[in-house]
Amino acid sequence: MRIGITAVQGAFAEHEQVLEKLNVDYVELRKAEDLNFPIDGLILPGGESTVQGKLLKELDMFQTLQEKIRDGLPVLATCAGLILLAEKLSNDEHTYFGTLPVTVRRNAYGRQLGSFHTYSDFGSEKDVPMTFIRAPFIENARDDVDILACVDGHIVGAAYKNQIGISFHPELDSDFRIHRMFLERI
Ligand code: GLN
Repeated sequence: MRIGITAVQGAFAEHEQVLEKLNVDYVELRKAEDLNFPIDGLILPGGESTVQGKLLKELDMFQTLQEKIRDGLPVLATCAGLILLAEKLSNDEHTYFGTLPVTVRRNAYGRQLGSFHTYSDFGSEKDVPMTFIRAPFIENARDDVDILACVDGHIVGAAYKNQIGISFHPELDSDFRIHRMFLERI
């Protein structure tokens, strides 16, 4: 099994470290040719969604990635990655892949609570550590989206078909249950 990780900006190295610990092969996706490698899953890391969206387009990677996701490639999207997947953003006119039928609010926790750490349940997993950094949350999800996690009444994890989108950064905690869950779905 080999996982592709978009590596144009943001926290891709931290996901790579998790995959190394789990003994899973990965490839960094930095340019259009990298998308020719056969991959079994895709990680969209956190960072800055506007920068990532722009770079993926400029590097001519955007459309191929969008097609792969639409065609069913399993995706784990964290933070900015969730913003890239969202069908709609409530406080930004842009949309990117638009493959996850949810409405996402960017920087949803405001300045005061820009970054925080908590524990909450994620699907059937109990007390999963969650690190939020200027995080988005899901304001609305279509009925056929599985809600996996909520914090303070807001949706911070959801799954739909081949896609898992989460608000926080599981790659920054030494608890690999979310990555394992993603790999098991492949
Ligand atoms: N605030 C960032 C954005 O809007 C997301 C933050 C993150 O990925 N940690 O893209």
